[in-house]
Amino acid sequence: MKFLLLIPDGMADWRIEKLGGKTPLEVADKPNIDFIAKEGACGKAKTIPEGFEPGSDVANLTILGIDVKKYYTGRGPIEALANGINAKLVYRCNLVKATDIMLDYAGGRISDEEAKKVMKYLNKRKKYDFLEFHAGRSYRNLLAIKKDFEVAKTFAPHDIQGKKISEHLPSDGKLAEVLIELIEWSKKVVPEVTEKANMIWPWGGGKMPNFPNFKGTYGLKGAMISEVDLLKGIARGLGMEFLEVEGVTGYIDTNYKGIVRRTLKAMDEFDFVAVHTEGIDEVSHEGDLEKKVEAIEIYDEEIVGRILDKADLSELRILLIPDHPTPIELRTHVAESVPFAIYGLERDDVKTFSEFSCAKGKFGMIDGLKLMPIFLR
Ligand SMILES: [Zn+2]
Repeated sequence: MKFLLLIPDGMADWRIEKLGGKTPLEVADKPNIDFIAKEGACGKAKTIPEGFEPGSDVANLTILGIDVKKYYTGRGPIEALANGINAKLVYRCNLVKATDIMLDYAGGRISDEEAKKVMKYLNKRKKYDFLEFHAGRSYRNLLAIKKDFEVAKTFAPHDIQGKKISEHLPSDGKLAEVLIELIEWSKKVVPEVTEKANMIWPWGGGKMPNFPNFKGTYGLKGAMISEVDLLKGIARGLGMEFLEVEGVTGYIDTNYKGIVRRTLKAMDEFDFVAVHTEGIDEVSHEGDLEKKVEAIEIYDEEIVGRILDKADLSELRILLIPDHPTPIELRTHVAESVPFAIYGLERDDVKTFSEFSCAKGKFGMIDGLKLMPIFLR
């Protein structure tokens, strides 16, 4: 038996007046996704435990059976895993534009190349040897700390846009003092290299996580395909193989053929393959309703349809689940439960895949940590 986990990021949504009181999933024409629901068994799962931010890191870890209450240490450390960074603690280190007010958490969408120059310059000018700046994508960079500290409390820069930074500085302990000193220092140093951003903003930090090994837990050789570093970090942390696909964009214009080709090949090589795609979440953040419905239809045809066409269904079990809802109306994630469908288990009466139809499935409402035991049983 092979196991295929399909994760269309942010696909779940709310009922919307403009869609006649239906959700994007309820109006989209998606015969292949519906096939999985109709021939399989459905339910709804809570992928964001109480007290956690509704992010893809927490949701995907939960789907993969990792108890975030026990193992999650922050977004920075997971991105560090993706980049092969070795440190005691890692913080996300945004390049931002701010006065005493946080003006732009995304540093004017600074180019990768310019951000790399800034990080290099910060490393050259830094006062402390236990610090290391690492370039990532655009404004999303990392600060590695090679000395043991208690974790400092920080604020995500996108949550304090338009607010006073002096009221949201790092706090709690010695590391907080270091981080505040760094922010102050960076106000002089960053503008020497770029005009897009004028300081750094460390956040989302923690100690490097120690996730349980995927194969050790489930006895399956696992692989992950994704367009984003966050999932690469999760895969590496769990000891799953991360498979790169050329030409992916993380948007609805991504290289679908390449993703499907790699997925089918991986299903020969591995027992368990997870395929995470970002496009539907991105258009949800854009707040474009028509585009979201279209993105679901493209996903249905280009990913699910092509895999169903080519795969040997008699030897395959498929779990399809969005990691979290990204309601168009809010243009951001929420911590609500998501619908899921499993092909290859005894079917129930659900005929279509949606937030409301799946609630009537045979699994009902479950804790996200129960997904893997059900899927792999
Ligand atoms: Zn998102």
